[in-house]
Amino acid sequence: MLLIGNGRIITRDHDQPYLADGCVAVKGNIIIEVGGTSELKKRYPDAGFIDATGRVVMPGMINTHMHLYSTFARGMALKDAPPQNFPEILERLWWRLDKVLTREDIYYSAMVSLIDCVKNGTTTIFDHHASPGAVRESLFEVSLAARATGVRSCLCYEVSDRDGAAVMEQGMDENVEFIRYAKSEPGDMVRAMFGLHASLTLSDKTLARCCEANAGLGTGFHIHVAEAAADVSDALARSGKRVVERLAGMGILGPKSIAAHCVHVNEREMDILHQTAANVVHNPESNMSNAVGCAPVPTMLQKGITVGLGTDGYTSDMFESFKVANILHRHHHANPSIAWVEAPGMLFKHNPAISATYFPRPLGRLAPGCYADIIIVDYDPPTPLNEGNLDGHILFGMSGRSVRTTIINGQVIMEERRLTGIDEVEIYAKARELSSKLWERF
Ligand SMILES: [Zn+2]
Repeated sequence: MLLIGNGRIITRDHDQPYLADGCVAVKGNIIIEVGGTSELKKRYPDAGFIDATGRVVMPGMINTHMHLYSTFARGMALKDAPPQNFPEILERLWWRLDKVLTREDIYYSAMVSLIDCVKNGTTTIFDHHASPGAVRESLFEVSLAARATGVRSCLCYEVSDRDGAAVMEQGMDENVEFIRYAKSEPGDMVRAMFGLHASLTLSDKTLARCCEANAGLGTGFHIHVAEAAADVSDALARSGKRVVERLAGMGILGPKSIAAHCVHVNEREMDILHQTAANVVHNPESNMSNAVGCAPVPTMLQKGITVGLGTDGYTSDMFESFKVANILHRHHHANPSIAWVEAPGMLFKHNPAISATYFPRPLGRLAPGCYADIIIVDYDPPTPLNEGNLDGHILFGMSGRSVRTTIINGQVIMEERRLTGIDEVEIYAKARELSSKLWERF
């Protein structure tokens, strides 16, 4: 038993959203009670106690679209002229990097990024992996890193035609094998989806084969959708249909699928997303950095589409993604009142809803029966904090670097910013060594 008490508790639970002096009681990997500190201390006198005085206790953050493999690109120089558009970013950076990843690179790039997740209070990730030069067992390698760092994860391999038929086949096999493994794995720490790159690198034949391979496995697809205008023109040229229409027609979209980005979608496509109950994930920083445009998030939310918030590998810090989601839509719409509801809605409501598709117990909430994924944030509010203004305090007062303690599945993974059971210095040194070799092969 573990109690986290004397803190300001943001629960994200409808019944009691905020406790000014609260305590969370954890038994095993589950939260069993949330209440007053003295009351719970009395009820569970033998429990361990973490003192959160002067701090805020809240649910761990969820990132619904991540690329752990992108880590080694940090600081790397491109060999060609700077890309002028999104397809050139793919060709000159990501598709050159992913080709030269080895199994060891996959493990260590994942380790570094997962350590960063823990340090920023991100406790669950939905990752989208690519390593065409080392496809086999790649998801197993990523899952070893997830297990070592203690981060809850839902993994997939992005199938694509871009590296030829043999690599495409390997990608399909890797998804199928890992989905089977994740189903047989006891515990609730690892799940799997069927990954697809994007409409622009997938033929009708490959999409049909992936649907066939996924039939009976009970998972959804995780795919980039209409991220850039080039994806739309490609889909129109291939099929006479726009991206969402094409994918829906092929049976890719559904209540368990994630359509990342959806920047270039029209009204009809948004209606299809709603009808198929597909989950959209918005990645504001990545979209701005790639200069692909601003996704019509307010319209998608008005239509009742589930829209989560991800980072696309741009960062591991969901506080940062939240801040940027907030300002991107104001700037884009020239409307200072937009995104007050939409940005926290994506992060604190829709990301838990997407997680619920894959994990049997609730995430993103501190309430009895939920997974004990809890972060303690160093934040002493300089103005009144109450249940009506929580999001304003998080938005303007906190960042990933303010997270002091991270608890995942009832385990204390980081205490006072030190990861337990992980030698960060050694892992970072190994990552520097491997990434410098990768930069030579790039
Ligand atoms: Zn992505």
